[in-house]
Amino acid sequence: MQATKYDVVIIGAGTAGLYAALQFDERYKVLLVSKRELSLSNSALAQGGVAAVIDKSSDTYKSHIADTLIAGGYKNDLAALEVLVTEGPADVMRIKEMGVSFDLDSDGRLQMTLEGGHSRRRIVHHKDSTGAEIVKKLAIAVRQKGNVEIWENALAYSLQKDEQSGGFFTGILYKGERHRVFSGYTVLATGGIGRVFQYTTNSAIATGDGIAMAYQLGAQIKNLSLVQFHPTAFSGGSGRERFLISEAVRGEGAVLLNGSGNRFVERYDYRGELAPRDVVSRAILMESKAQGSEDFYLDISAQDADFVKNRFPMIYERCLEEGVDITKQSIPIFPCMHYLMGGINVDTKARTNLTGLYAVGECAHTGVHGSNRLASNSLLEALVFSRRAAQDIILNISMNGYINSCGEAPPEYEFGEKPIPSGLRTEIRQIVQSSYFITPDIKAAAQGIKRIEAIKELLRQPGYALTPDYVEARSFATVAYIILQEVLAQ
Ligand SMILES: Cc1cc2nc3c(=O)[nH]c(=O)nc-3n(C[C@H](O)[C@H](O)[C@H](O)COP(=O)(O)OP(=O)(O)OC[C@H]3O[C@@H](n4cnc5c(N)ncnc54)[C@H](O)[C@@H]3O)c2cc1C
Repeated sequence: MQATKYDVVIIGAGTAGLYAALQFDERYKVLLVSKRELSLSNSALAQGGVAAVIDKSSDTYKSHIADTLIAGGYKNDLAALEVLVTEGPADVMRIKEMGVSFDLDSDGRLQMTLEGGHSRRRIVHHKDSTGAEIVKKLAIAVRQKGNVEIWENALAYSLQKDEQSGGFFTGILYKGERHRVFSGYTVLATGGIGRVFQYTTNSAIATGDGIAMAYQLGAQIKNLSLVQFHPTAFSGGSGRERFLISEAVRGEGAVLLNGSGNRFVERYDYRGELAPRDVVSRAILMESKAQGSEDFYLDISAQDADFVKNRFPMIYERCLEEGVDITKQSIPIFPCMHYLMGGINVDTKARTNLTGLYAVGECAHTGVHGSNRLASNSLLEALVFSRRAAQDIILNISMNGYINSCGEAPPEYEFGEKPIPSGLRTEIRQIVQSSYFITPDIKAAAQGIKRIEAIKELLRQPGYALTPDYVEARSFATVAYIILQEVLAQ
């Protein structure tokens, strides 16, 4: 099969992939691939906003760094964190110039909100649907670029190194056909792994495909079990995807109640409702064990109803659809998987250990978050490090020239017609959830990993049909395997 050639292939078109694509001018031929339509990603679900030190008269880099270190348990990579905090504000202003509309105060200045773990109001936002606004405006900007080809509903299923040129072959299922594309440089921007857990706030695309492909290729994966469980996901519905009740709701005065209607978080941490997420999630888990109940509520009904409706229109409408009027009633909540701190290990230029392969956004481990992400730092991370990846690629090309020629595309896994056995993904989710929900369960992990190894082996057999089910089951098995290995090594 003849491979089409690009200078750069970017796999994933959330904030990280879109912003990376925007850095390349017409000298570079770029392919941007999105597994589903551009509007479906974790980025598009982001509510709270982007944390950045915009107003230096009321905030400092030092304070943002200190807050991030406290939330991250001082396990953060300080060099990467300094890059994030000091370069981030310029990226926020750049996307504003590109058309992203952030809310303004009555003086026409960017309105800042507060979220758990931040000591200052430094979160810029677009109502409570910041991510959707960013994706929409960045996608418009990318579509205007003549040098970036966008393939939507295109599933990247394999990544192979071309030893002859140093470039990569990516296998992509697009419009019902298999394509092999060649690129001198490849940027993985495939997002998180939420769907590998039973309940998650993550979108359907968060299946860890990029992490699994990088792992198969020999890229270093770090801290995949560093997962953030969000304390306040809507628990009233029945689906796997749990609607997030943003941290900003607590920032604006909402309180957490146990099943008896009493506040309890301060008994576990002096910071109460505004403690970092891992602390609040653990407090709920401990209170749940103490009370023998999973009934928990978030209550903002003491605030002015018009303020609540105007500040959180999406949350208000979404809860109303579920039969809860948040201006009058408490919202049923419980923690669930929300964010991946670990991932494909990269340096401050988003380079993996494999020359020419970059990883950005949630699939990457830059080390900025330490052991727990501070709210609203991840969109910032996606912006800063995707720009840096692109800059490094541009510098490399200017120094070493384009990689145009490539060898024969190497053989791939032998696809056939067989569907995968039904229920594999559900089984993997159950194993992961029972082995690791807020705190690890070593016994369950030790049992679970044997079954995961068997599933991995099963999926290695030739003859399965190339379908999203097959690709995602393979990713699930790889991701689950790495997580359980880490849990057992703790
Ligand atoms: C409900 C929710 C609320 C959040 N709120 C905030 C917030 O307020 N502030 C904040 O900073 N962060 C927030 N986050 C986290 C933040 O949204 C994400 O970490 C960030 O958007 C990740 O961006 P990304 O570009 O790395 O990945 P994503 O936006 O998830 O994009 C991943 C892309 O990869 C593509 N992809 C995946 N696999 C393949 C494949 N095999 N082939 C082709 N394409 C593929 C997908 O189609 C998608 O385009 C929130 C997350 C959630 C779930």
